[in-house]
Amino acid sequence: MSRGALPMPDPERLRNIPSVASLLETREIRQALLRHPRPVVVGAIRRALSALRAEVAPGGTPPRSREEWTELLLSRIPAEIAVAEEPSLRRVINATGVVIHTNLGRAPLPEEGIRAVSETAGGYSNLEFDLASGSRFSRLVHVEELILTLTGAESAHVVNNNAAAVLLCLAGLARGRDVLVSRGELVEIGGSFRIPDIMAESGANLVEVGTTNRTRIEDYERAATARTALLLKVHRSNFSMTGFTEEVAARELASLGDRLGIPVMEDLGSGAIFDFSSAGIPGTPTVRQALALGPGIVTVSGDKLLGGPQAGIIVGRKALVDPLKKHPLSRALRIDKLCLAALAATLRLYADDRRAVARVPVLSMMLAGEPAVRARARKLIRRLKRESGAGLSLSVERAFSSPGGGAMPDVEIPTACVAVSHETMRVEELEARLRLGSPSVVGRIEKGKLLLDMRTVRGGEIPELAAALLSAASVE
Ligand SMILES: *Cc1c(COP(=O)(O)O)cnc(C)c1O
Repeated sequence: MSRGALPMPDPERLRNIPSVASLLETREIRQALLRHPRPVVVGAIRRALSALRAEVAPGGTPPRSREEWTELLLSRIPAEIAVAEEPSLRRVINATGVVIHTNLGRAPLPEEGIRAVSETAGGYSNLEFDLASGSRFSRLVHVEELILTLTGAESAHVVNNNAAAVLLCLAGLARGRDVLVSRGELVEIGGSFRIPDIMAESGANLVEVGTTNRTRIEDYERAATARTALLLKVHRSNFSMTGFTEEVAARELASLGDRLGIPVMEDLGSGAIFDFSSAGIPGTPTVRQALALGPGIVTVSGDKLLGGPQAGIIVGRKALVDPLKKHPLSRALRIDKLCLAALAATLRLYADDRRAVARVPVLSMMLAGEPAVRARARKLIRRLKRESGAGLSLSVERAFSSPGGGAMPDVEIPTACVAVSHETMRVEELEARLRLGSPSVVGRIEKGKLLLDMRTVRGGEIPELAAALLSAASVE
């Protein structure tokens, strides 16, 4: 029996593995230290060492000489250094067809927003400084008028995100008192945003009314008491209910609130400024339409259907919204200057619907017709056809894109995908290689095929996507 086949105690197997200190003395690492900061190099050595120890541990790689271990480690350390020197947050080509993809960063900003961020980020600005008078003012002035004009609201406030907006409204309007919510609207959005939890954090007392599938106006009416501070309606963003269901329309709830003298709030979630029904996608009211139905206060996200940066926008009646601006939580939840700059630039594009559709990526992607998406798919295929021998086979396939971001759970948009397969590589392998490439490409596997949905791939990204496919397909 050979020596290597015997299970040896770990200290014996690991004995010849060099130490961090001795690796630092090698010529290769001394050279690396000229180009990379010491902590980066030491970290890379430590990671390479612990990976090796884990491999060697029980019955793994047989022991080698110190020289052999050193050589093996030196061959692995450059890759570890490269990983450490690369930013963790990287660009991804979104070929999933999910327009507002929360895990991929939701809305890409319009060019105008990117410019505004860049200018604001690199220097000082009049963020809270009135250049006309030379005195301090609120950072909200940069977006307030725009929001009022676009939504018809009496007053507007902006915070860090919509979860913060809901928390602030509940804390400011209902702390220590009751908030009535339908059992059909006690939703969870994106894992950590749950209405009952936010309610508990705000200090308001949740009073559930109705049942999971049916809630009537009488349910709210019966539950309302002198302790009731708010009637809350929550948009069922990421699911829909069908069958034996009934819910109270926003208008009806608003008129009950008026009659009882209790404010009504609607958490709309996705805040459309553009009227999607005018473009053939019904079912999503604009913020203006939602407000017109009568709730005193409405909250929306900045980076869903609005297509701007992360932000939480609160609009409604002055008497309800204005006090929130002075609430202590407002300071903790305030919007940062980069998001504010991007939000102002995005909102300005909405002064003209056609300009908004052309310039705001979320709108352009949502509204692109299937033929336009198909043309992009063909363009990608034409580019790759020139490169023969990559082993790829490509075709255009019909499928459906979705808005995502809990915006329109029932909406499916007909789209065109490039279906990719490889003569020797499994689709799972191809998918993983694309995902791990640079830039990373994220598609989806459907019925054994890798689909790249071209709705969410921009024209300018096609050359890079073609290069990424070629590199993923090459088997050395
Ligand atoms: C998305 C969403 C939220 C959370 O908004 P963020 O901007 O992600 O904080 C809250 N409520 C509803 C109904 C939503 O759809």
